[in-house]
Amino acid sequence: MKMSRTFKDIELINRQGDITKQPDIAVIVNAANAQLRAGGGVAGAIHRAAGAELEREAVPHGPISPGEAVITKAYNLPNQFVIHCLGPVYGRDKPEEMYLANCYRNALKLADKYELDSIAFPAISTGIFGYPVKEAASVAYQAILETLDDLKTVKKVCFVLFGEDDFKVHEEVLSRLKP
Ligand code: ADP
Repeated sequence: MKMSRTFKDIELINRQGDITKQPDIAVIVNAANAQLRAGGGVAGAIHRAAGAELEREAVPHGPISPGEAVITKAYNLPNQFVIHCLGPVYGRDKPEEMYLANCYRNALKLADKYELDSIAFPAISTGIFGYPVKEAASVAYQAILETLDDLKTVKKVCFVLFGEDDFKVHEEVLSRLKP
């Protein structure tokens, strides 16, 4: 099963895999920590694949607060840019859904400001930060839908899910979206 749906001329896609291996995507999103350091999880994978220069460029932009997004070059990654978003810690940064939605809105608007055509997100906050994946996917897709009208250059919005269960949850949420 692999779905792709188009709303307002923008394609929404889910992929199962590693976000550091998406050469057809202009900008990938990092589920960053406030300090914009390498750390673990998807951030660790992105910094490893990009090389040490990514941290050198990113850290002076920190600390960032929940919902904020900043952009850097992508160095050794096969993409043009990385957008670093700080997701909410579930149960701590309330209201979580507002901060999580802000991540998606701000990342999409930043990608559009840089005139990029494609963006890939991981499931922000659903790892170490503990956001239940189905709730997070609903908030994320709702925020994406609400932002589509503001986008001029972005034509492809992709989720890259590491785990099969997370991928299936995103496929289900995507299949139920109402325009
Ligand atoms: P957070 O601190 O925002 O919760 P994590 O990095 O802990 O961020 O996890 C976010 C999601 O990213 C989790 O679902 C995790 O399984 C996933 N993930 C980890 N590594 C990768 C990767 N290389 N590509 C895509 N997703 C990844």
